[in-house]
Amino acid sequence: MAVNFAEDPGQGGLPDVGRLDGLYLDEDGGIDFSGALKRDLRARADEFSHQPVVDDNRLTVVWLAQRLLAGAADDDPALLLALYVMTPFGAGEQGWMGPEIVTLCREAFATIDDAALNAPCPHDDSGHPGEPAFEHWPSVIEAVAYGEDGWSELEDWLEERAYAEEDGEDMEEYDEDNPRPTVAGWDCPKHLAELAANALRRLAPPG
Ligand SMILES: [Zn+2]
Repeated sequence: MAVNFAEDPGQGGLPDVGRLDGLYLDEDGGIDFSGALKRDLRARADEFSHQPVVDDNRLTVVWLAQRLLAGAADDDPALLLALYVMTPFGAGEQGWMGPEIVTLCREAFATIDDAALNAPCPHDDSGHPGEPAFEHWPSVIEAVAYGEDGWSELEDWLEERAYAEEDGEDMEEYDEDNPRPTVAGWDCPKHLAELAANALRRLAPPG
């Protein structure tokens, strides 16, 4: 996506991101988590450890947050996960994004009903699923959006092993008796509420 932010000041300190509809929505007007959005999530997840964010991230954050504020999270739990990946949590990133966008993110995460935090969920006995490795989020988000196709515990392990081999590290054997959390864990309403609460803590204004 080659968007020149400098030419696109928008309204109220927020860029006008209407043009992203054409990239991020499918023919039926739903969010397409497998196309351009996944590519941009992947760029973010890869950048997170390697490079500073680029202007494109800023537009994507605004687009996702505005969809959440419009109430789309009820239909698309993956939307919350996508915003979580794109949100600027570091102080430097927040300074670079600007206070308007940080406030917008805070408002978006605040739309998630926190009642689920204290409700029972299927993971209460076994422990709630943890977050995947950051670089795996784009695949997890796609899988949450479309069901378990495209994501499996074994594929997850194979992908991790590939990363480990690149880094010259050894991997433990895949443990079939102790499987990793499945997609069903990541779109659990309690888990989503926990992510939103975590995001709000990390976005809280200092003092
Ligand atoms: Zn749960």
